[in-house]
Amino acid sequence: MSDEVAAPGRRQGSRKWRFALLGVALLASVATLLAWTSTGHFQAFGAAPTGSRLERMRASPRNRDGVFVNTTVNPAVRNRPDLGTLKELAFGSQQRTPPGPLPMERDVAAALAKPPESGLRVTWLGHSTMLVELDGFRILTDPVWGERASPSTLVGPQRFHPPPLPLDALPDVDAVLLSHDHYDHLDMPTIQAMVPRGWTFYVPLGLGAHLEQWGVPPERVVELDWWQEVSLGDGRLRMVSTPAQHFSGRGLSDRNRTLWTSWTLLGPQHRVFFSGDTGLTQEFAEVGRRFGPFDLAMFEVGAFHPSWGDIHLGPHQALQAHELVRGRRLLPIHWGTFSLAIHAWDEPAEVLAAEARKQGVALVTPRLGHPVELTGDVPSAPWWREVRAP
Ligand code: ZN
Ligand code: ZN
Repeated sequence: MSDEVAAPGRRQGSRKWRFALLGVALLASVATLLAWTSTGHFQAFGAAPTGSRLERMRASPRNRDGVFVNTTVNPAVRNRPDLGTLKELAFGSQQRTPPGPLPMERDVAAALAKPPESGLRVTWLGHSTMLVELDGFRILTDPVWGERASPSTLVGPQRFHPPPLPLDALPDVDAVLLSHDHYDHLDMPTIQAMVPRGWTFYVPLGLGAHLEQWGVPPERVVELDWWQEVSLGDGRLRMVSTPAQHFSGRGLSDRNRTLWTSWTLLGPQHRVFFSGDTGLTQEFAEVGRRFGPFDLAMFEVGAFHPSWGDIHLGPHQALQAHELVRGRRLLPIHWGTFSLAIHAWDEPAEVLAAEARKQGVALVTPRLGHPVELTGDVPSAPWWREVRAP
């Protein structure tokens, strides 16, 4: 009797469950399809190093059991946001994106067509993408032309401004330097678009696996460990992979599998330092001893927060690092393009400008796309204060 009464209810119940399961399966399929299509069939995550590449990585003095470690392995290394930080990240009220369009050089290609007079010229193309013209060589750092610093074309931090120069209008370069594999520094669509140009990529250990998966021929990839160097033009330009204090990874299971680096560029007349992403490390004193002083040092100032204070400098520590490497002028990078932290979009520049004034450090703060030489009137005005709602 009770069975006869309960049966229709059970049938209804199990039908509801079936509908719910179907719904979940449908949603999961759509999400997987979107993830698959928006990440270039998951290719954006890159490839795992194998064979002789992997052997070379494991032989590095910086590799421990398959992962790379910083020089100072601090057990309390600040690279873990707590719950409060995550809450602030999600709900903080800072103006994290600019209220209006950023001022930009109008015709970057025309400005670049004139050769630099002093032998050293730099052009900020957004975030950590710098075109460095140094004693007759053209070097491009961490090229990101993509819309998002993310594996997906649909979600993730979106750029505030269009690239100041279309990629196909960029003059040929002698070298592309990469600092590490994070999405705001290594952008799959950008690399793929560069393949036909035939440029050579100089990268820290392990990154070549990603590049080769995206179509860069192996002979166009040069992987270096810290303190290793290559030279171009019969030794006229030396490019040294120098230390940084950071981490790496593009997916869930490749944390610190590939190396991170800063770059030291030594020309016959000029010396330039590029920090990549880094926290403050005493290795910079060694860089300064071996290769300083630098005519120009580019240091990351954005995406800083005490919760990850050991793997990103922020403006205060950028000034300390600048002193350690013996920089003569400091150009702030890693800000003004993506919102990756909890601060206002212009806070890195604002804090740096105030601190540099107090400490008497010479800043170079060019507008996006504006080629700058370090002679005459070097741009140091706070252009970001002019950014207003249209
Ligand atoms: Zn990074
Ligand atoms: Zn970064």
